[in-house]
Parts: sequence; structure tokens; C-alpha cells
Amino acid sequence: MPRFITLACFIAGSLGPIAFSQSRGGPAAVVYEGGRLIIGDGRAAIENGSFVVQNGRVTAIGPKDGVTAPAGAARVDLTGKTVMPGLINVHVHIGYEGYTSWGAENYTAQNVLDHLQREAFYGVVATQSVGSSPTDPSIQFQRDQIAGKFPPASRFFFMPGMAPPNGGPDAVLLKGTTVLHAVNEVTTADEARAAVRTMAGKNIKSVKIWVDDRRGTYPKMTPEVYTAIIDEAHKHGMKVHAHATTLADQKAVVRAGIDVLVHTVGSEKLDDEYLAILREKKPYWTTVIGLGDRTEVCDNDAFVDQTLPAKVVATIRATVEARPLAPSCGPRSPNAAAREETLAYNFPKMIASGARLVLGTDAGIHAGYTFGSADHHEIARWVQFGLPPSEAIVAATQRPAEVIGIGDLGTLAVGKSADFIVLNANPLDNIRNTRQIASVYLRGVRLDRDALLAKWKKI
Ligand SMILES: [Zn+2]
Repeated sequence: MPRFITLACFIAGSLGPIAFSQSRGGPAAVVYEGGRLIIGDGRAAIENGSFVVQNGRVTAIGPKDGVTAPAGAARVDLTGKTVMPGLINVHVHIGYEGYTSWGAENYTAQNVLDHLQREAFYGVVATQSVGSSPTDPSIQFQRDQIAGKFPPASRFFFMPGMAPPNGGPDAVLLKGTTVLHAVNEVTTADEARAAVRTMAGKNIKSVKIWVDDRRGTYPKMTPEVYTAIIDEAHKHGMKVHAHATTLADQKAVVRAGIDVLVHTVGSEKLDDEYLAILREKKPYWTTVIGLGDRTEVCDNDAFVDQTLPAKVVATIRATVEARPLAPSCGPRSPNAAAREETLAYNFPKMIASGARLVLGTDAGIHAGYTFGSADHHEIARWVQFGLPPSEAIVAATQRPAEVIGIGDLGTLAVGKSADFIVLNANPLDNIRNTRQIASVYLRGVRLDRDALLAKWKKI
């Protein structure tokens, strides 16, 4: 037996690195040269730049002339291309969408993985599910993903949700979360504190709360309860994400000290009192505008359609009657113009008052606004409302990495994981060029996007 063990160790020791480099697509060092490099921190792009990736990490980056390739390194010519860090989405609802069906029956590790692959296909390298994922299966999924048990996909993050009994998620999401008991139902401040302590005991870093009565149809979390949640969460170094959609509720939760504000007030114009609160508190802010927009499936754009079953695309295009939280290509809602005007007024005011924009989509509720493509929609909306593309990229890369606390993602820099997007056109010229994806790399490995497409088109 000792001989066998020795032999086994020898094989593992000698073949391990070779197997590793083969499975990772080639030599241990690769130089990507000649591209325009967007760092992701708002600095000017490096024109004609180079970077070196070794064992999944960036080990050098700079102007092409200033980067020395390690001996034996493979070279990838990116002349004419633009490279940017992978996107990071801090707000989705993962696991329930089945494209031809929706619900708790779809919630499996395999389906969570599928949604993360969709995000990765579109260049999103980390994805956070907020308030709707059952805790213990999500922790298990994270462990399994870190252990390498799944094929390449966007890195999974999640946080539990808290709401009063029968409150919380919207009417669609609630159908899934109720079956899976994914939301912690709390009535009193003491219950709320106990629930947060349980989360902290599981090393959970964030929690989502809903503060919304859905126009008087839902019980609403009281200030006493959310104040207790915020206090207890902060004691344990956790961040609180708050869903609030009205001006009064946003004022209340930001004043109370939440860390991440979810949603943009779309039916009232912001007032000076709120802007003063924002200037003082400077919350992170995820806009999640797109779920309320007309679906891009109506636009016959292959970028969106390519990952959807043809039947689903056809059904959405044929739907003309407007239904809440469902896609339709009929006449625009009578409220759409007023909403647009209010968003155009409120968005720049939020930014100017110090709200720290981060990418989140709210994807997962319906197939018309879904994993991956929705990220590009949301980013383009910001620029439409006046944000410079370079700032939009920071809000979709570096800053969400900071919010989630992912140390090795968010920028193209030495020491970071080599998770990046190669684009055929420059998004600093036109933000819609984030859609011109040539390839996506996760930990230095090129994602097989064609294989993913083939899988999705079988449905
Ligand atoms: Zn949401």
C-alpha cells in the first residue's frame, strides 16, 4: 500500500499542473496585447495596452511597451478590441425562472447554475440574489461552486430577506418565496434582531428588507422593526439592502441608515429634504429601472433574443395586453411618459446628491427582462439619463465588487482574478457597445459561449 500511495502522489504532483493548465485552456501565462484597456475605476483607458494572466490572475498590466511577457507565454492579439472588467450585478432573483414556466418547482441548484451561466454569457462575472433565495441551499450552492463542482458561471452571492408575514416580495416573486419559505417573516423588533443574529451566525454579510405596502395591499414593515434590523445588522458588520419605491419610504429608510437603497422613485419628483438626507448618508443605490420598462424583446434585437427559447420570444411579441409584472409588446402604458419624465428628473439628482450607483437589475421575475441581457439594458438607461459611460462602467464593475465585498473582482489590475470581457467596440464612445461581446473570460479561462447558446436553443 505505501508504494501505491507514493505512486499516486507522484502522479498527482507531476500531472496536476499539466492537467490544470490544459483544463484552463493552455500555457500557464498568457499575454493579451494591443487592446484598449478599461480599468474599471474611472481612470482613462490604456490605449494599445497589454496584460498578463497567470493561473487565473492578472500579474501585469500597462501600455504594451511597458509590459514584459514571461518566457514561454502565449499571446492573444486584441488589436482593435476593448477589454473591460466583468460586470457585477448586486440585485437579481435567481432560481425561479424556467422561461416556459415560473415558480418554486423550478428552484434547483441546476437552475440557479443556468441563471448564473446566462449572466456569465453576457459578461456578468458575479451575481447576487437578493431576499428571495432559500438560505441553506444557497450556502450549499456557494460552497459547491467555490469547490469547483460546477462548470464556469457567474460567481453566486445571496442574502436572505425579511418582511412582515404576508408582506415583502411582489405578487410574482411571492409565489416562489412563500413555497420555499425564503423570506424571514418578522413582526416585532425582537424577532427581527434574532433573525439577523441567526444570519450573522451563518456568516451572511447582507440582508434585504421590503418597506412597501404595495398601494395599501400589503402589510408594511414598521420603522421600529427596520430600525432594529439595521442596528443589529451593523453590529454584526452586515449591510442592509432596502426595497422602497415611494419618496416617503426612501427618505425613511435612508435616514434610518440602510446601506443599499433599491429602486428609483418613478412616480414623484424628489424634494430638497430627501436630497439633503442623501448628501448626509450617501447610500449605495441600485436603480432597477428596467423591470418597469417595455421589454427589449419587442425590438427584434438578437442580443436579447439569442438566449431565449424561440417560443418564449414569439409569445412575448404576440402579447399586446398590458399585465402587471409580465412582458408585453402592445401599446405603451399611459403612465410610461410620466414615469420617464420623473426618472429623467430624479436620476441625475440622486447622483448629484451623492447616492453611490451600483448595477442591479431585479431580473428573474419574467422572461422579457432576464439574466444577463437586463444588465446591459440597465447600464444604457443610466447613460440615457446623463451619466458618462466611464462612470456607468465603474458603477457596474468596481463599486458593486465593493458593495458585495469581493476583493478579487471589479477592476483590471494586478492581483485581481482575470474575469473580463473583450468587446468589438468601445463602450466609452457608446455605452451600447457593451453588447458587442467578442468573448468573456472567467478566472483567465475563455467561456464557451457557443456551447451555452446551443444548450439554450435546444428548448
Ligand atoms: Zn428585487
